[in-house]
Amino acid sequence: MLNDRVYNFAAGPSTMPESALKTAAAEMLNFRGSGMSVMEISHRSALFQDVFDSACEKLRTLMRVPESHAILLLQGGATTQFAAIPMNLMEGGAADYAITGNFSAKAAEEAGKYGTAHISANTKPGGHDKIPAQEELSLSEDAKYFYYCANNTVYGTEWQYVPETASPLVCDMSSDILSREVDVSKFGLIYAGAQKNMAPAGLTVVILDKALAGRELPCTPKILSYKTMIETGSMLNTPPCWCIYMLDLTLDWVMREGGVRAMDERRHERAALLYDYLDNSRLFKPHALPGSRSFMNVTFRTGSDALDAAFIRGAAEHGLVNLKGHKITGGMRASIYNAMPVEGVKALVAYMKEFERENA
Ligand SMILES: *Cc1c(COP(=O)(O)O)cnc(C)c1O
Repeated sequence: MLNDRVYNFAAGPSTMPESALKTAAAEMLNFRGSGMSVMEISHRSALFQDVFDSACEKLRTLMRVPESHAILLLQGGATTQFAAIPMNLMEGGAADYAITGNFSAKAAEEAGKYGTAHISANTKPGGHDKIPAQEELSLSEDAKYFYYCANNTVYGTEWQYVPETASPLVCDMSSDILSREVDVSKFGLIYAGAQKNMAPAGLTVVILDKALAGRELPCTPKILSYKTMIETGSMLNTPPCWCIYMLDLTLDWVMREGGVRAMDERRHERAALLYDYLDNSRLFKPHALPGSRSFMNVTFRTGSDALDAAFIRGAAEHGLVNLKGHKITGGMRASIYNAMPVEGVKALVAYMKEFERENA
């Protein structure tokens, strides 16, 4: 652990690369010789436009986003996209939704206001402990798109494959974007709330096949129209400037560390440490089934609420914080995003072993 920082296992907002925080601290009062903080300059200034363009360019390079796709940096969080997607892409018709956790369930519910959300799969009966296989997906003829959530932040499951569908893929990658290599050309739309793996809360990245823009319902607010946002360079109104700046600094870090491939290698290393231990523990039980397990959010419990609480308390005393599971699941959740050092996971496993020795 560095100085007085802790290992923060929060699901979001979550831990950020220390180098990004340090640069932000150093530039806080005088951003690039302007005599102002980046928070105090106009979003229309050349100085800020540079930051904006730099973040988009890095994202394009890191994710190998093809020219067919636009990158939008928007406000409103991932939740706003639950409505924006059907408003822009459903054309009052239907779409397929795979429900594998609470966020995809919410997205399907929202979509039902603007058309018909066919349920392609629903893993709720098993407590969202797995991801459906390709052949388990029921796909409808009239779907304008197929919607899924790549990583289920709350339950700790993650799609290990990209579904094959006739309609364009729309994917919520809020909690695993930039952690694994993705062929963006396969997707109609990818979006992610930034506060898990990229930046502070308040920014949503949308990567959209430009051919899908311009189909919004007439009632779509201008601020939610992808076409308008493409035309205005994401600046119909003031964008979340500070978050975009922090995104740029985070992307600098990802690049220096070796890009998405390096992030992908590290996610395997971190997750293996935890799951290997969990599969052999006499005390802790993992929630997600092998083959469906998340590399980003590892969910587990002891089976006793009192022991879970004691573990969470004890871990915090060891500088391992925010391990409490989501309120709808209880138990524990270790969120191990890109910025979580492998040492943090090693420290967590060491404490889990100690706790097991004392309590199993
Ligand atoms: C956190 C999260 C959301 C919700 O994000 P907000 O920015 O709070 O709206 C949606 N989907 C996934 C997968 C998430 O992890």
